[in-house]
Amino acid sequence: MSDLAPGLALVISAPSGAGKSTLVHRLLQAFPEFSFSVSCTTREPRPGEQDGREYHFLSRQRFQELREQGYFAEWAEVHGNLYGTPLESVEAILSRGGHIVFDIDVQGARQLRSTLNSGVFVFIFPPSLEELENRLHGRGSDAGGDISHRLEVARKELGEAPGFDYWIVNDDLDRAFDDLRCVYKAETCRSGRNPELYERLVQSAIY
Ligand code: ADP
Ligand code: 5GP
Repeated sequence: MSDLAPGLALVISAPSGAGKSTLVHRLLQAFPEFSFSVSCTTREPRPGEQDGREYHFLSRQRFQELREQGYFAEWAEVHGNLYGTPLESVEAILSRGGHIVFDIDVQGARQLRSTLNSGVFVFIFPPSLEELENRLHGRGSDAGGDISHRLEVARKELGEAPGFDYWIVNDDLDRAFDDLRCVYKAETCRSGRNPELYERLVQSAIY
């Protein structure tokens, strides 16, 4: 995809349970100009999840067919299920100048770095592995065995943090959200992102 895409691609990654869905949800509520990148997955829907809203829920066979057709901007196997980002919808949003936020794992973020030349990559840290475990238990959506697997994977995922543009520690949720908001605001003020603003101000001879 061209690095001239006018919209902002904000990619959020973190170990499972660190709070990325919570932060992304807040971002979408506070800034309705963002679209959420709805991924495809082969995992079963959780109670309350709707097909097409949180995810597009697919069979493994259908996912693999789409993957072979080059349908995904990135894909990965996470905790035994397949996940992928549909390329076409991302391109459509970015090329009309829309902002899009992604909630994806570190493997997917690494792939998106090369697919989307202009993305902004944010890694969310849990305050500690102990607190991460508490949050996974508190969320109540994962079985005990899944939680130990997620913690094992989390240790490896933390090692990927240096490849990201921004780091946010999700200790206090309000403070962490404020950091995310500031990242977004700073990125929208980048000079390279506002060529029309420059033209307009210079042409109107304000300076
Ligand atoms: P992820 O999307 O990274 O897997 P979630 O957003 O589902 O994580 O958060 C995991 C659990 O931790 C949820 O129950 C959520 O309400 C809780 N949580 C998120 N952020 C915080 C925070 N700053 N302090 C305490 N609990 C949090
Ligand atoms: P969950 O099943 O808990 O919703 O998500 C499990 C993990 O898969 C999370 O780390 C989430 O960010 C990641 N994930 C969700 N969608 C995608 C995607 O399209 N691609 C990749 N690589 N990871 C995804």
